[in-house]
Amino acid sequence: MVTLNLGAAVIHSLAEIEYCTVGVPFLYNDLTTEDMRRNLDWLDAEMVDIDNEKLGFSFRAYLVKIAGQNVLVDACNGNHKNRPTALWQHQLDRTDFMDALKAAGVTPSDIDVVVCTHLHCDHVGWLTRLSDSEWVPTFPNARHVFSGKEFQFFQQKMETEGSAAANHGSFEDSVLPVTRSCRFDLVESDAVLIDEPAGSVRLMPSPGHSIDHVSVAISSQGQEAIVCGDAVHHPIQLDMPLMPMRADYDPKLAAQSRLSLLNHCADTGAWLLAGHFCKYPFALIERHQDVFRIKNRLSIGDKHGLD
Ligand SMILES: [Zn+2]
Repeated sequence: MVTLNLGAAVIHSLAEIEYCTVGVPFLYNDLTTEDMRRNLDWLDAEMVDIDNEKLGFSFRAYLVKIAGQNVLVDACNGNHKNRPTALWQHQLDRTDFMDALKAAGVTPSDIDVVVCTHLHCDHVGWLTRLSDSEWVPTFPNARHVFSGKEFQFFQQKMETEGSAAANHGSFEDSVLPVTRSCRFDLVESDAVLIDEPAGSVRLMPSPGHSIDHVSVAISSQGQEAIVCGDAVHHPIQLDMPLMPMRADYDPKLAAQSRLSLLNHCADTGAWLLAGHFCKYPFALIERHQDVFRIKNRLSIGDKHGLD
């Protein structure tokens, strides 16, 4: 677990899978070997594996302790989900996510707010856990916050095309159970979730990867960190910010959102918290010619120079 102190807030990265590799086409149809080679001067072979045509990847959520509240942003893949069409998360049985939560000094009952950047299956998994063959909320006391537009889109998809069509079944087994027994709010994509003297948590629209994808901006004492969900998947998109991801709902809109987010981070010094960036749970972005690079280029073993 790596921790960022942000003014009066503390942000823990919660890795469910800190490092794995995925085949290049899993993420990008347009990424060439030459593109990969060009980036080897700043991304090592664990992140860009040309010989095996693979990219380094993570599945990570973030726990934000701010103004006396525990806010969980995103919820990874989860355990025991039946996913014949999403094999990377089929019947996972890992303790990493819960171990990381415990290491952060928090139990599931202590989570006050859960917010998802979007409702794809690798961002909602831990919202539920299996108990006596039933999916029950993992965070029973939390207010669950989703984009209303995103929720309604997948609700309709499930009703018209069946459960498996709505994010591999995750809308039914991971999202709907919390709406039955927990407080949940369907909000606009610029909603303010917390606004206290110690800091704020607000949504930033970053649509395109999904219909109403949001980023989550945490601010405290003049510092800012942005959990970007799938607005950016892999650091190589800093070199190619307009390159679409295979599963983007609206690739052009996703590219606009990504560019605007990276410009914002480079211009303001805001931290970029990208759940799928292996090695860089907390990244500072700088300009490089007309694209971008990660400024704090240290391995995770070095703790990124953070407390
Ligand atoms: Zn994702």
